[in-house]
Amino acid sequence: MNNDQLWQAALGQIELKVSKGNYLTWFTSTRIRERLEDVIVIETPSAFTYEWLSKKYRGSILEILQGLDGQVKQIEFAIESAQNLPRPIKRNLRVTAKKAVRPAAEVKPVEPMTRAREARRPEVNKTLNPKYAFDTYVVGPSNEIAHAACRAVAEKPGEIYNPLFIYGGVGLGKTHLLQAVGNTILSKNPAARVLYVSSEKFINDFVQSIRDRSTQKFKHIYRDVDMLIIDDVQFMAGKVKTQEELFHTFNSLQGQGRPVILSSDRPPRAIPTFEERLKSRLAGGMTADIQQPDYETRLAIISEKLGKKKELIEDESLAYIAKNVQKNVRELEGALNKVVAHCELTNKRGTLDFTKKVLKSVMEQSKQKTIDSKSVIEIVSSYYSIPSDALRGKSRKKEIVKPRQVAMYLLRKENNISFPTIGDYFGGRDHTTAMHACEKIDKLLEHDEELLQELTFIRERLYA
Ligand code: ADP
Ligand code: MG
Repeated sequence: MNNDQLWQAALGQIELKVSKGNYLTWFTSTRIRERLEDVIVIETPSAFTYEWLSKKYRGSILEILQGLDGQVKQIEFAIESAQNLPRPIKRNLRVTAKKAVRPAAEVKPVEPMTRAREARRPEVNKTLNPKYAFDTYVVGPSNEIAHAACRAVAEKPGEIYNPLFIYGGVGLGKTHLLQAVGNTILSKNPAARVLYVSSEKFINDFVQSIRDRSTQKFKHIYRDVDMLIIDDVQFMAGKVKTQEELFHTFNSLQGQGRPVILSSDRPPRAIPTFEERLKSRLAGGMTADIQQPDYETRLAIISEKLGKKKELIEDESLAYIAKNVQKNVRELEGALNKVVAHCELTNKRGTLDFTKKVLKSVMEQSKQKTIDSKSVIEIVSSYYSIPSDALRGKSRKKEIVKPRQVAMYLLRKENNISFPTIGDYFGGRDHTTAMHACEKIDKLLEHDEELLQELTFIRERLYA
């Protein structure tokens, strides 16, 4: 096998492993540049792709190459140099490839400012909060891909990653990122019509427009924008008509090269009762997740949020906060604000002792809060959209078995309930069933990122 053949074969396997959108975005313009004995150098079209492939896909690519050629020991990545012009491997790209990576020339220029347009503008643009900017967003391993993708859309709206789908748990910075894109576009072009809405607003507006027989007006508002941002689309689960409308809105905007950005607390695949064609549309764009920030990132966020007030609080107190408030950024900010407020009110410096005292109740709350079995069942069944009776019942259907195992797992891990009790609780099953469920989930969690995300989300709900 020569290098091209080897890479073709590898791409064939990669295509089966990753989503269509990720495949088109990251792999279509790659090739093997050279092979030095057992090292393979993979060429990527940009620094961005380079970063992404080497961070997220190094392991899987190596594994696939090794499966095809046992001699391969190592892979390296390189960025295509200017002289060394693109020689992407020609594969049968489907039409969506063109849509996902739209050449600049196809993008419709922002129409000139007309009076009618000016009249619409303020209403549209005031949905953005200027406090959300890229400048104030701290980037770390947990969010760097999502951040980079948002930045890329802000720089080249409509050209790449359309649609862009950002997902992650509560309080991890989705809204901040989405709005930062909108604000950046506006700062470059104040006449641009950027519409940011929560999915509730989209749903309400749509329902209202049907009631008032004003669907034309609705379409006008949502389709006649330069950029549409819809936050928290998981709330559209089960809303068939709204999803249909979203699909058409999206088609109309995408067809004109206008960017659509969506966020959700979980990946599109995991949104129950989300229309198939909507899911596949989303999979044809770009999805990126945000995870819980690590300690370093939390510390950097604290620092960013404090700004000049940093002098109020001692470094070891900041470290204490970053170490102990781990769940999400919103809580981190809450804890920090509490300490700052106490310092300001009492005119005291934020020493470690002072900080510990102020945060005592916060810490205890989050430590002591235990959850009852009933809420585990309720939250798990509502998350997976299955009735709670079914979760505790006998059905062996796949859609029910996994959620049941997740529920058993959580009861064990979060509440430390014994296996026989868990078995009993789930329709008098044997304790080995509960044990098996926990082992199974533990094992899946080693590589199943989607499941990890689901559990993070369910836990957040449990402790909310
Ligand atoms: P989400 O929409 O995911 O629930 P938000 O975007 O509302 O989360 O973020 C919650 C709070 O945390 C906001 O005040 C936001 O500014 C802040 N925040 C989240 N992530 C970051 C970050 N990486 N850097 C700075 N602030 C952040
Ligand atoms: Mg949000």
